[in-house]
Amino acid sequence: LVSCFLAQEAVAQRPRYMDPRQPVEVRVNDLLSRMTLDEKIGQMTQIERGVASPSVIEKYKIGSILSGGGSEPSYRATPSQWMSMTNSFQWGAMQTRLKIPIIYGTDAVHGNNNVYGATIFPHNIGLGCTRDPNLVRRIGSATALEVRATGITYTFAPCIAVCRDPRWGRCYESYSEDPEVVRSMTTIIDGLQGQCPAGWRGPYLESNRKVLACAKHFVGDGGTWQGKDMGNAIMNYDTLVKTHMRAYPDAIAKGVSTIMVSYSSWNKQKMHANKFLLTDVLKGRLGFRGIVISDWQGIDRISDPWGANYINSVRQGINAGIDIVMVPFDYVKFINIVKGHVATGAIPIGRINDAVSRILRVKFQARLFEYPYADNSLRTYLGSLQHGALAREAVRKSLVLLKNGGGAKKKLLPLNKYASKILVVGAHANDIGLQCGGWTISWQGGRGATTKGTTILGGIRQVIGRNSEVVYQPNPSAGYAKGKGFEYAIVVVGEQPYAEVNGDNLNNLNMPAPYPALIKDTCSNVACVVVMISGRPLVVEPYLGYMNAFVAAWLPGSEGRGVAEVLFGNYEFSGRLSRTWFRRVDQLPMNVGDRYYNPLFPFGYGMKMGLKRA
Ligand code: BGC
Repeated sequence: LVSCFLAQEAVAQRPRYMDPRQPVEVRVNDLLSRMTLDEKIGQMTQIERGVASPSVIEKYKIGSILSGGGSEPSYRATPSQWMSMTNSFQWGAMQTRLKIPIIYGTDAVHGNNNVYGATIFPHNIGLGCTRDPNLVRRIGSATALEVRATGITYTFAPCIAVCRDPRWGRCYESYSEDPEVVRSMTTIIDGLQGQCPAGWRGPYLESNRKVLACAKHFVGDGGTWQGKDMGNAIMNYDTLVKTHMRAYPDAIAKGVSTIMVSYSSWNKQKMHANKFLLTDVLKGRLGFRGIVISDWQGIDRISDPWGANYINSVRQGINAGIDIVMVPFDYVKFINIVKGHVATGAIPIGRINDAVSRILRVKFQARLFEYPYADNSLRTYLGSLQHGALAREAVRKSLVLLKNGGGAKKKLLPLNKYASKILVVGAHANDIGLQCGGWTISWQGGRGATTKGTTILGGIRQVIGRNSEVVYQPNPSAGYAKGKGFEYAIVVVGEQPYAEVNGDNLNNLNMPAPYPALIKDTCSNVACVVVMISGRPLVVEPYLGYMNAFVAAWLPGSEGRGVAEVLFGNYEFSGRLSRTWFRRVDQLPMNVGDRYYNPLFPFGYGMKMGLKRA
């Protein structure tokens, strides 16, 4: 009886915000009323993993940490190493007076792509070609499990940019040039966070098997002049809303927990300082009740040159409506500047309270106060067989068949599994790093065996078994009998990996060397299918006449076998272009519905092989 009485006493003394039976808004208000200004500003501060430590978190009451660009805690860190890192940061937060848990954010943009051995799904451009929102939802669920398997609670995904110009280095992060296709893919949020009940208003997280999502980058990121990264979107409000904002109301209705601000400008005004769009439109008109987060050093970039007049930029950014600032390094300076602004009234305390309420709302909703630490039992999901099968399905459905015979060329697909000898050429045929692209293990991605998976060549070998002899030449040059003695060739070409501004290609989108020559040399001697691994359409018209068949495979990720399964006719092609395929760069930007343009392949195009049903 006595112990029962003492237990009841303890519950009664527990602050209201710690009581999970209380409604979220009650908990938010209770906790907010107990917080000092330092504690509030700490919640608004997001810092890089490299400068974070349990003691820093405790001392500055930091509210969130990130692995920017996917920075790993150590080379090929295992899920347990990731988990012990995130747990140690959480432990720091648990030492603070109010025990407000941290959230840890990462760019899991095509699977938990920063972690060695995780399932890497196709990049968004390929998923857009599937036109399969349900598949994309299932990818979201798998990604959530693999992210949670490493103790991470938050992903900076999905990118719902509507990329209008493929010269942009982030074109592959965009599902489509078409706002309706992008909108249909917001089902990824249902997968990542769980599906919120009908009529739900506000941020949502179903369980601790789900991750907080982030729709990005608000707004107009895909509409900048000439596709320049962080550039200027020149357009009227109506176009901005109808094209670039089109998917946001859906994302909000699905309870997306956070929205990231775009580095870009709208009609020369930096989005990070745009109070009208961040506060009046996003929080007001669209009713977004979650967290508005800045991009990495996004506030620094309000001024030109970057970082000039930082003090003023901090005031502008927060007053514009940013709730969490991805600082990410010099947090002491940032915190002091915000404090100074609050002291002078340059940033109203009401604005700080609004920001912190939003942050706490997300954290309560995510049940982080009850379950702050990582769940060990989820580790088995990382790179699981089921997720591999799902990734393969996604690869198969993302492939777009653009040519199969025609003119002087014979139809070649489906390929004959029983050919006596098959030639496979091109470095892209046997390289996991190349087929995954940017945002894989490192920010820019890289070549070689950067993570686990099956290359396209490996997939070909698995699919045909011992039926044929496969000869592989990564870059055939001197001494190679080009195509002679082979029944056909599979030529795999593509771009090198890149991310963000490094992928901007404002002058040309030519196929990189040695591929034009490789196509001409090989396909002049033997029937060939060309498979292109790229983050966007490239100039192919001059080479098309040499090919029997042409397949766009985008950036398929870790399951190269999916490509082979379709080439050899185990499955039919079903992908349709998520972008218009231009002939020449001087046709860009090519807008949906622009009839006077003369595309090589129109938006929505995609052929079938005509498989005979067994
Ligand atoms: C990118 C964001 C990303 C962030 C954190 C920025 O450079 O623009 O999309 O989420 O870095 O890595």
